[in-house]
Amino acid sequence: MHRSNLIKPLLDSTYPVATKGEGIYLYDDSGKKYIDGCSGAVTANLGHGNEVIIEAISQQLKKVAFTYRSQFTNEPAEKLAELLCKMTGELYPWTFLVNSGSEAIETAIKLAIQHWQEKGRPQKNKIISRWISYHGITNGALSVSGHPIRREKFLNMLGESSMIEAPYCYRCPFGKAFPECGLQCARQLDTILGRIGSDQIAAFIAEPIIGAAGAAITPPEGYYELIKEICDRHNILLISDEVMTGCFRTGKMLASDHWEVRPDIICLGKGLGAGYTPIGAVIVTDEIIDPILKGSNIIMSGHTMSANPLSAAGALAVLEILSSEQSVESITEKITYFHNLIDQLKGKFDFIGDIRGKGLLIGIEFVQNRALKTPYPRGAQFTETLIKTAKNNGLLLYPASSGTDGRNGDAIILSPPLITTEDEMDEMYRLLVKSFEAMEATLS
Ligand code: PLP
Repeated sequence: MHRSNLIKPLLDSTYPVATKGEGIYLYDDSGKKYIDGCSGAVTANLGHGNEVIIEAISQQLKKVAFTYRSQFTNEPAEKLAELLCKMTGELYPWTFLVNSGSEAIETAIKLAIQHWQEKGRPQKNKIISRWISYHGITNGALSVSGHPIRREKFLNMLGESSMIEAPYCYRCPFGKAFPECGLQCARQLDTILGRIGSDQIAAFIAEPIIGAAGAAITPPEGYYELIKEICDRHNILLISDEVMTGCFRTGKMLASDHWEVRPDIICLGKGLGAGYTPIGAVIVTDEIIDPILKGSNIIMSGHTMSANPLSAAGALAVLEILSSEQSVESITEKITYFHNLIDQLKGKFDFIGDIRGKGLLIGIEFVQNRALKTPYPRGAQFTETLIKTAKNNGLLLYPASSGTDGRNGDAIILSPPLITTEDEMDEMYRLLVKSFEAMEATLS
């Protein structure tokens, strides 16, 4: 390896060099065109090369590129906080800006713990999370992530976290079926809180729809309402990780809005900057901040680049576009069209076990035997081969864990930019079918 080599996540891989982005398309240096069928990592929600966002960032760059959060605030950061508050029903008047989803999770955990400390309850400092979850790659975020492969190399550095089962109806961890199950997966939170004692617990954290670890696992009706009721009854906070699901990815500003659940702390990332600038945010209610304001009056977290003006200007432009009525209406129409299209795949390919998700966040889980739901052995490399085949065909897909045991099983996420037209969805569908047919041929 030459010292000048860029270290890539997969050391043996040779990635093409991306040279241009336009709408839902990316181009490499050989001129090959790719449909961004997953918005990168469910991030480029407004596609590539959006002139309005580019102009907003350029204008801010000319005014002031950097201010340090302990010396100044800045215009785009203040406006962004205001707009976030407006777009979340004025329930979250406090915004803390960071640079990534992982940083948002770290901050949310710290805020939850600090909230209880300032209320004179320092022993309430543990977090409960779920298996089949991913909250980020930094150590605090990974400590609460139920993602065995991403955890295993660093177990010695991770904090203790109790985890409950996920609402994974396709393979119910309790071997039951909804609604007869009585939402046992949610009630497990009640049981564990009873055992540990909620006087030890600061918060429960969950992704409203499970992304990377479960390929858009979507809970059954009543799940989140029950989770919130349990959190309230035990006096613990609910942290909603909306890093992947937030900012209209599922058709609403927050995925929590689908169930009208109001978490205490919400984390945003990915789609907030839509890939134009690195940014994440933690938004919280007055109730969470009040004891801190009346107490130490300082949030014991932050980064040099927190509330960076360029990042904020990009995110502000993104949210201004998304908050317009036409945007919301057009996203809603596209969602129905896309779901109808993708649902047809199940009848065409036997290796599709489950199609799930909400809005433009769709997961497809693959199985060797549909009736028995048998996963392919990991050695078969189903997902890896599919991703490569699709990329060769000019379609980018996001590999996700299927949720089985975090190691075996195969799944992908389809999450095209929210600007994708119906014609472009048709084009994406044709490339998907072509790639699935190639997989079928290799399996037979
Ligand atoms: N939370 C969720 C739900 C995510 O999907 C991710 C990233 O995939 C993160 C947190 C971490 O975000 P980032 O990669 O920006 O640090």
